[in-house]
Amino acid sequence: MPLKQKLCTAVLMLGTLQMTPLFAESLQLNSQVAADESRLLGIFKQLHANPELSMQEFATAALIAKELKASGYEVQTGINKTGVVGVLKNGPGPVIMFRADMDALPLKEESGLPYASSKTGTTLDGVQSGIAHACGHDAHVTWLIGVAKVMAEQKANWSGTLVLLAQPAEEAYNGAEGMVSDGLYAKVPKPSVIFAAHTNPVWPAGAVGLGQGRRLAGADGMNVIIKGVGGHGSTPHASKDPIVMAAQAILAYQTIVSRRIDQTEPVVLTVGAIDAGTVGNIIPDSATLRLSIRWYSRAARDQIIAMVKQMTDAIAVGNGMPSERMPVYESTSTITPVINDDGLVAQVRPALAVALGKENVYPGLPMLMGSEDFQMLGEPIEGVKILHMEVGVAKPEVVSGFLQQGSTPAYMNHHPKFQVELPAIAAGVKANSAVLLELLKKAP
Ligand SMILES: [Zn+2]
Ligand SMILES: [Zn+2]
Repeated sequence: MPLKQKLCTAVLMLGTLQMTPLFAESLQLNSQVAADESRLLGIFKQLHANPELSMQEFATAALIAKELKASGYEVQTGINKTGVVGVLKNGPGPVIMFRADMDALPLKEESGLPYASSKTGTTLDGVQSGIAHACGHDAHVTWLIGVAKVMAEQKANWSGTLVLLAQPAEEAYNGAEGMVSDGLYAKVPKPSVIFAAHTNPVWPAGAVGLGQGRRLAGADGMNVIIKGVGGHGSTPHASKDPIVMAAQAILAYQTIVSRRIDQTEPVVLTVGAIDAGTVGNIIPDSATLRLSIRWYSRAARDQIIAMVKQMTDAIAVGNGMPSERMPVYESTSTITPVINDDGLVAQVRPALAVALGKENVYPGLPMLMGSEDFQMLGEPIEGVKILHMEVGVAKPEVVSGFLQQGSTPAYMNHHPKFQVELPAIAAGVKANSAVLLELLKKAP
């Protein structure tokens, strides 16, 4: 054997000796995902063109159930109306749950894509609108389907139980909790880790952001119903005007976050809607304020709610309302914050670096006041660990502008022109599979 050839053989052998299991899996992952990419892009475009509103995700759920069954999963459907779970048992080890959300937004799409949605529909609240996948949940569903196939094909490389879950109504912040209260854990084993990934146009397609600790805020929806005494618009002295009381309450609330909550606590209090009255010459009988409260500390959340009640009650008393006509407070939703387990973040980062390239694993965005509801799947499970990953979906040039100049990308989630770049489909399957392979790796 000539010297050059000998050297080449030696280098190749050295390469084989140094090839870690992680690296070998990632080689397999690359070819598996590449082989499946055109099928996955077809599924993504079909989902994108046919979005479904919260709690109406029937065709999406049927597609997921069909694909998970085809990949060999034990599938159950109809959990909280449209929720789907697929379980793959593969020997001893942990139970890991990977979640995708299925719902689209009541929004007219303006992306101009050839597979853009022209669908219209009616929300459960009766609002008629266009429907668009402007939050990228179509990509989440496609990733779930891609991951299902990868993990089934890679069974020799992991051990444990994989639970794939597709939930309804993330945008309403109650789809995950609804699956739990509809008996989810009578149907699937309780996981020790719940993992979810979300499209993020801050990172380029092919990259991910993975941050430690506080990621997304807890959120409470609250209605404040201020009662008055209705009457003719020309005789306010003979009535008690709930619109004036609502205006006083809105201004009073502005001092809760700015003057009364510890300034080191990240909190938000927004009055996003007022429902009151019909015409100018009638003083209505009541006014309803719709509030959104965001928080990380439960104590701060409880304080804000108590202060809203304290201030609104005081305004009602100050306006002469009798005790039987005091304001009424309704909680419309409540979800906990998303707080990543730092140990899991450190554990999966090397696997992501191998799968995507080290330069494509970003440290994750700073803590946000936006919210998510997948962690509610873990509410009944003591000690459950949460992992949330940002998956890039932007054009690289958009991202370089953001990273260099600190500007936000052109079209964030929920914008009518929000868009998932197509390379993000295969990259997302790869990244999510790499995380799951790491979490389910065989004990050495
Ligand atoms: Zn959204
Ligand atoms: Zn979303």
